[in-house]
Amino acid sequence: MHAYVIGNVTVDETIAVSEMPAAGASIHGSQRSRDLGGKGANQAVVMARTGLPTSLVAAFGDGFRADMIRQHLASEPVVSRLVPVLGKSTDFSIVLTTPDGENVNITTTDSAQNLTLADAVAALADAVPGDLAVLQGNLSDETTRGVLDAARARHMITAFNPSPLRPYFSTLWPLVDIAFLNQGEAQAMTGTSGEEAARKLLAAGVREVVLTFGGDGAMLVTAESSVPIGAVECDVVDTTGAGDTFMAVALASAALRGTRLDRTAIEHATRAAAITVSRPGTRSAFPSIEQLQAILSAR
Ligand code: ATP
Repeated sequence: MHAYVIGNVTVDETIAVSEMPAAGASIHGSQRSRDLGGKGANQAVVMARTGLPTSLVAAFGDGFRADMIRQHLASEPVVSRLVPVLGKSTDFSIVLTTPDGENVNITTTDSAQNLTLADAVAALADAVPGDLAVLQGNLSDETTRGVLDAARARHMITAFNPSPLRPYFSTLWPLVDIAFLNQGEAQAMTGTSGEEAARKLLAAGVREVVLTFGGDGAMLVTAESSVPIGAVECDVVDTTGAGDTFMAVALASAALRGTRLDRTAIEHATRAAAITVSRPGTRSAFPSIEQLQAILSAR
């Protein structure tokens, strides 16, 4: 099985601040890290580190950040299918992080929004039935819907993380096999929370729903069952990329074992995400290949 992550790639500038600024405030901070980021790249890098063959399909634009992105990706086991977008800025994120581990993330999408449907679908040319198509919320409406359609037409398994949220995402559920949402996303998209939110998505056509609750763990909900899993207790340093690590490892754990999402996949994802939250930065916080091997070999 091969995973195709169709999403964004950024350079993340993480700045430590003593508290989140209010509107109009001028505050001091110190640079914590400069790192590869973007939800698409995050998920693709973690998936590839698990040993699951993984391609990242993403757009990049002009400026020094494009070279940084290429260098970072070259040192990962991921297949990079980067699409140049002329005349647009390469995307970047400003991440503010406080001493209690909370973060605020502002991401530019000048490149991601200009990844065309034709370029994205061309990158799926080698996909075969049963391969994974993994999407998040940073691409244009046309490309997001069109890629989900194309993946379905190829009998791929579609996984979607509706982040950052957009109102029209609620029309996409019939095209989605597996959904990952945090509490805020679940509430905004269904008007309710917890298992009730997941049941609404199942009724809309999703096969497996995973809800994540930060330090309170996660829940896998299918037509047959509802499986809550507690988070691993750890020293929280920076939660950036926790959800991406979680989604990537859950999907890879199931794919590598040839199963649907199950308790084991959620337990593996929970252990991997705990490593990410206990370290600063984005890519540099992700579990290593060795750590992921150890996690995935535990049953
Ligand atoms: P983010 O946007 O910060 O990447 P998210 O909002 O998509 O994350 P969360 O629900 O915050 O997703 O976290 C995903 C998973 O990461 C949780 O289900 C949990 O396993 C792990 N996690 C997050 N925060 C903590 C924490 N404080 N302690 C332990 N594990 C955590």
